[in-house]
Amino acid sequence: MADIAALKQELVTANRILAKENVLDSFGHITVRHPEKPNHFFMSRARAPEVLDEGDILEMTLEGVVVGPTPSPGKPYSERFIHGAIFEARPDVMAVVHNHSPSVIPFTVTGKKMRPIMHMCAPIGNDIPTWDIRTKFGDTNLLVTNMDMGRDLAKALGPRTVSLMRGHGSVVVGKSIREVVFTSIYMEKNADMLIKALTIGGGEVMYLSDGEVEINTRGRAGFTLERGWENWCNKVERPYVSQDWDMGPGFSKTDK
Ligand SMILES: [Zn+2]
Repeated sequence: MADIAALKQELVTANRILAKENVLDSFGHITVRHPEKPNHFFMSRARAPEVLDEGDILEMTLEGVVVGPTPSPGKPYSERFIHGAIFEARPDVMAVVHNHSPSVIPFTVTGKKMRPIMHMCAPIGNDIPTWDIRTKFGDTNLLVTNMDMGRDLAKALGPRTVSLMRGHGSVVVGKSIREVVFTSIYMEKNADMLIKALTIGGGEVMYLSDGEVEINTRGRAGFTLERGWENWCNKVERPYVSQDWDMGPGFSKTDK
């Protein structure tokens, strides 16, 4: 049986880490799919990620209907449909981040494509679409406030790890909280470094090749995630709970 209390604790830690690492500010969110009920997920009530705690975590259906105990005030995030629609479209996805990561925004409103330029950033992939809410829904406040909008975004994301959102932010998906936190942090770093590289390079930049992206994404084993997660937990003064990981041939956990 899954340890739901531990999962909620990890979700709170992830919120604090993403706020500390400049991915979330007072806005944006991270969710995790319920490990025993794939049509439900966990998400905080509408509160700034840096201040929320375990008592704020809501369980909801993919359509964004809150079930079970509700803290007071229990107002959910208006953009919960981003998460539900992605979980609905992608059975392989266990965790989703929606952020307004500041260095990423310029790539949502210009013709400059975001692609990884550093090995640690490879998991964002070389094929990152930009979803524009205006294409289907006309002029709006740019927020994803119903399942129609969420499903349109999920369609743009397709099988990828990241989709940008024009004039708004991005979504990042992964197979675990730790993975999606890692990818989100390194996407912000990649965007910041890429802007600098484009500046000093006069617009000419050498990106990772498709092969390099594939090798580095596959090579990001539990070891790499764990090293980052332990450090980030320490920075936000949250308990670090180690997870088993497979180091691959020729390594043992003591190589950490
Ligand atoms: Zn948003």
